[in-house]
Amino acid sequence: MAVEEVHHDAPPRTGIIVTLGPATDDPDVLERMVESGASIFRINFSHGEPDSHYERIKAVRAIEKSTGRPLAIMGDLPGPKIRLVEVAGEGIMLEAGQEITFDRGESGPCRLHEDNGQIVLGCTWAGLVDCVQPGDRVLIDDGQVRLLAVGSESGRLTCRVTAGGLITSHKGVNLPDSDLDIEVPTPKDRSLAEWAIGHDIDLLAMSFVRSASEIKVVRDLLLEKGRMIGHERPLPIIAKIEVPAGVHAAESIIAAADGVMVARGDLGVEMDLAAVPIIQKRLLSLARQLDRPCIVATQMLQSMVESPVPTRAEASDVAGAIFDGADAVMLSGETAVGAYPVVAVQTMRRICSQTESWMDSDGYQVEAGTPLESVDQAMGDTHALVEGIWSTAHAVKAKCIVVFSEWGTWSRLISRSTRPIPIVAYTSRPSVVRQMLLCRGVIPELMEIMPDAEILGRDAEHRLRDLHWLEPGDAILVVIGRPMAETIHSVRVTVQRISDIEATG
Ligand code: PEP
Repeated sequence: MAVEEVHHDAPPRTGIIVTLGPATDDPDVLERMVESGASIFRINFSHGEPDSHYERIKAVRAIEKSTGRPLAIMGDLPGPKIRLVEVAGEGIMLEAGQEITFDRGESGPCRLHEDNGQIVLGCTWAGLVDCVQPGDRVLIDDGQVRLLAVGSESGRLTCRVTAGGLITSHKGVNLPDSDLDIEVPTPKDRSLAEWAIGHDIDLLAMSFVRSASEIKVVRDLLLEKGRMIGHERPLPIIAKIEVPAGVHAAESIIAAADGVMVARGDLGVEMDLAAVPIIQKRLLSLARQLDRPCIVATQMLQSMVESPVPTRAEASDVAGAIFDGADAVMLSGETAVGAYPVVAVQTMRRICSQTESWMDSDGYQVEAGTPLESVDQAMGDTHALVEGIWSTAHAVKAKCIVVFSEWGTWSRLISRSTRPIPIVAYTSRPSVVRQMLLCRGVIPELMEIMPDAEILGRDAEHRLRDLHWLEPGDAILVVIGRPMAETIHSVRVTVQRISDIEATG
């Protein structure tokens, strides 16, 4: 079935979570978001006060009543999120190379010190000046502004700005290198959790979870306080995974919680950004194995904060999360403060629907392994040969597959497998070397002339001397394709072992 033939009448499966904020306060906006497919509403307790949270809860309940659709409200406990205190005026511009000081925060807003021109910052956690050691990073505003601690004395921490930028009031501060002595849940989390029980909240997210025992503390609190007002069961807890300790203890945390959120915003600041997709896949897989729902959150359609159309990469990101088994996808700034909150939900719904329908269709089954009609017998024979090459490589524990192939055909065919053995591909054609750069796992190399098969086989070991990952005794597979082999259906495959002389030579 072609992608455009995918039917869209199946009921939606992936939940859409909307973060409430000033941009969703108009009841009309809220209603249109519900009509467009939003079913869970997040209130980020990091911003605002219980009174404003309650106004939003009542607004959602009013829409629930008027539309007759069940709507869930998720309270999001801030956890030990550290923020700058008030920054005077329009903000302060920090320049790379400049030195700034953190004080305990008792002395008022972040400011430019009038006497000596020194910039003094305060934050919501007084312990920062004690826990951060020289050499640790201090990241402000999701890592947009970066500092390095260079000295600490008498309750003050001096930092050098390594990446400058404008800092404004209440921006988040991340300390990825420091051992934070902060108890989770914080006193604020405890009082908000207690407040949530009596204010019509359905789900409670916990930020910056580091261990299963933190979940248990909140669970016990919810149980105890809930019983007092006649609740039979405690509110379900969604563990937000966003710090290294949480990632490391993910399995026990997810088992202790009722659901998990891949909180990619802080995760991408606390850990290497390049690791976020892998952590996302792992958390989705753990959640599936532990029978817990999993939410993928943050920056899913980020450009829609300002634009009515997302980027193609964002559309693919949403679909990728669904392919990997996400139960719900979440909008944050796109709805809370964005210029197009309703369009963001509609766009999210469209991407979810198309992806779900495709996953239900025959087309997806083809992707999943059913042979395509256009794979004829000749191609099938070639695939069988390639399978044979890979199973030999696996059986002899080959460290690499060396392919001599003038036009790169065999290198390309062998690279279709996702198995992790490098393919060193030789050709005498410079353009083929460049073209093979597109093939996964292929290291293309130019050789002046393609001599005969015997010489090529012996030559392979010589050519691998520079690859330091080979040791004496290691197996390699030498594959010789055309023009030495007569047709595409014939290929010569030899298993060779690296000799002492060659490996050390
Ligand atoms: C996140 O960090 O990705 C997240 C969802 O948390 P918050 O929006 O509270 O920063």
